[in-house]
Amino acid sequence: MTAPTTTTERTGYFAPTTRRAALDLLADGGPTTVIGGGTLVYPRLARDVPTPRRLVDLARLPGIDRITTEGHGVTTLGAAVTYGALARSPQTPMLLRILAAGITGGPQIRNQGTVGGSACYANPSSDVPGALVALDADLVLADASRERRLAAREFFRGPFATALKKGELLVAVEVPDISGSWGYAKLKHGGSGWPVATASAFLAHTGNGSISAVSVSLGAVAAVPVTVDVPPDLAVRAADADPSARTGLRDLVEAADPDWWTDEQADATYRRRVAGAVAARALSRALNGDPA
Ligand SMILES: Cc1cc2nc3c(=O)[nH]c(=O)nc-3n(C[C@H](O)[C@H](O)[C@H](O)COP(=O)(O)OP(=O)(O)OC[C@H]3O[C@@H](n4cnc5c(N)ncnc54)[C@H](O)[C@@H]3O)c2cc1C
Repeated sequence: MTAPTTTTERTGYFAPTTRRAALDLLADGGPTTVIGGGTLVYPRLARDVPTPRRLVDLARLPGIDRITTEGHGVTTLGAAVTYGALARSPQTPMLLRILAAGITGGPQIRNQGTVGGSACYANPSSDVPGALVALDADLVLADASRERRLAAREFFRGPFATALKKGELLVAVEVPDISGSWGYAKLKHGGSGWPVATASAFLAHTGNGSISAVSVSLGAVAAVPVTVDVPPDLAVRAADADPSARTGLRDLVEAADPDWWTDEQADATYRRRVAGAVAARALSRALNGDPA
């Protein structure tokens, strides 16, 4: 058998053991499918959905499945860290620990699916994009010649669309240590469903403990995550179920007027209607110190 002379001729399964080898495989622009945990890619291959048959599996790349915290207040998640690892590790920022524990699909999906795979797939009906935006995370992207960092709010470009360029890999997600209170809420239809709406609420405190700023990042409701700044007094009253504050919060969320998302689970009108209520639930969790 004659060995292929260029990488464009190479099809088949590759599991490189260095980042350089992985990026070289991607560098020639030949059609390639990257595999993180494979929970979305493998079913696609099995269903015979047209998918490039040069498969580059990241599983053996050093550090790709690690969670590390260094002295500078940033937690780095390798792109192939699974939800199971996130849920188990004490190093995981709390919001992501809650998110990971609540991914449906059972232990198989949580122990195989990765936060990086979800980010790159950019399904609007997913927990991950909204939480990464809420956390002000950076995505670390690399190609054969350089590495760059992009804020999560710039990475997600639309339904199933990201800022990843041809030849680039997501190598890590960096989460800054932001002190404050968090609350997470999601609405899903049935125990095994995907989210219809998610909300990550963040409260910043002043030195004397009062609330100085409140923001809510909504996921699964629009083409890309939406962040709404909420006046602290409104947030407190909405969390307390004050009806006029609930209406005020809903109006604030609706005024953001994003590109509301429709899929087989719920249409845009429904998502627009429920987003404020899910935001109120997340706020109430953040205020009560009971984040999930
Ligand atoms: C039964 C089931 C239940 C689920 N429930 C939920 C849920 O409740 N909430 C939720 O948010 N999600 C849910 N998901 C989706 C789940 O989050 C994703 O399947 C998972 O995170 C994808 O990660 P992966 O590593 O397996 O992706 P893969 O299948 O490996 O890859 C997905 C896509 O990203 C690309 N890719 C992967 N890694 C990289 C990288 N590092 N750089 C560049 N491109 C890359 C691949 O080429 C592919 O296009 C569910 C999925 C299933 C099957």
